Amino acid sequence: MNTSSSDWVSRSLRSVWHPCTQMQHHETVPLIAVSHGRGAWLFDHDGKRYLDAISSWWVNLFGHANPRINAALRAQLDSLEHAMLAGFTHQPVIELSERLSNMTGGVLGHAFYASDGASAVEIALKMSFHSWRNNGLSDKQEFVCLAGSYHGETIGALAVTDVALFKDAYGQLLRPARVVMSPDARGAVDGETAQDVARRAARDVETLFSERAGHIAAIIVEPLVQCATGMAMHDPLYLQLIRELCDRFQVHLIVDEIAVGCGRTGTFFACQQAAIWPDFLCLSKGISGGYLPLSLVLSREEIYQSFYSQDVTRGFLHSHSYTGNPLACRAALATLDIFEQDDVLAANQARAAQLTAALAPLRDDARVSHFRQQGMIWAFDAVETDAARAATFSRRFFSAALEHELLLRPIGKTVYLMPPYILTDDEIELLAERTRAVFDQVMAAR
Ligand SMILES: *Cc1c(COP(=O)(O)O)cnc(C)c1O
Repeated sequence: MNTSSSDWVSRSLRSVWHPCTQMQHHETVPLIAVSHGRGAWLFDHDGKRYLDAISSWWVNLFGHANPRINAALRAQLDSLEHAMLAGFTHQPVIELSERLSNMTGGVLGHAFYASDGASAVEIALKMSFHSWRNNGLSDKQEFVCLAGSYHGETIGALAVTDVALFKDAYGQLLRPARVVMSPDARGAVDGETAQDVARRAARDVETLFSERAGHIAAIIVEPLVQCATGMAMHDPLYLQLIRELCDRFQVHLIVDEIAVGCGRTGTFFACQQAAIWPDFLCLSKGISGGYLPLSLVLSREEIYQSFYSQDVTRGFLHSHSYTGNPLACRAALATLDIFEQDDVLAANQARAAQLTAALAPLRDDARVSHFRQQGMIWAFDAVETDAARAATFSRRFFSAALEHELLLRPIGKTVYLMPPYILTDDEIELLAERTRAVFDQVMAAR
């Protein structure tokens, strides 16, 4: 007997508390019960299909039910599903650490593992503070984040997040961070270029560092694209300037590549476009191909050495039960294999050019502002001045997109595409055409 989509949906709404959701909205906003996925498509129990144009919250790089990742996981299942990583080690975690280290030219040679992005951010914050403390600089206790930053929603990560919607309710629980200007190129005034905005934003950091550096452990930056605030893009010059300031004032640079890493911005690591390396680099989301929870923090030799001691309390005594899970690491290795075997970064340049061309009518549309693109991320802002309509824009767009077989979830008035790296020519044309149709429908509806 086949259970229909609507049966699954009503059962889900009774017992599953969905993330990032005002559950009452599901009285009007659809909930989709997914039965299976294949390539860029998700299918529900009634056989309807949806093009996963946001890679299932930015994690899925090579499609659903990818044959190569599936095969790697099946093989791993038959040898080792999990073993603790304290006192034990295993081939998948070793190989993954070595490969990631090589991909940074050995600069970030030490990999510490967790399961989700927020935990990676917590680890980087704790490591930074503890490293300074081990070096006799225990006054360095403060963290700096950018306006509009998003680094996750656990208490520590939320403290360096600057998205009011997620943060305000919990303000009293959080240790305040110092918030500096965002280099968001949309903030350009008086004919400024994106580089001018980057310079102005870096001066804000310089002012803060010159007053407070003795108390600041680290600045955390999401390089090139601040995703969760609404795909705010900045010039790579900003990262170079921040790297110089961090060196000059002895402040750690944490880059959060949880969303922008793994080829999303055009290079494997976003910070490669600025030709800099941070002191800590956080990865998650795409690293396992969107298969299994996995996150990690890469760090430099000096950081590692500051913990290396006879004294147990100078060590980094942090752990999660599933740290370095072999299945998740195997999925990551299979993901890196695909990057190599298919020359994915080069293939994405062609895909990106094609989708940008297909979306061109939106760039010139009077109802659109700030059409922008970086690697495999596209975004534009709806010009909607009516406050009530603006407040419901995202939900109305999501519902309309589903009617057109698209999974798209705007952030506020920002529509964005973050598709997996496998779209065919036909899928690219379909995505562009229907995104335009959905936008027309939502803007016209009264
Ligand atoms: C998603 C995200 C996180 C948090 O990752 P979770 O796995 O959701 O905890 C942190 N930083 C950035 C930039 C993200 O996009």
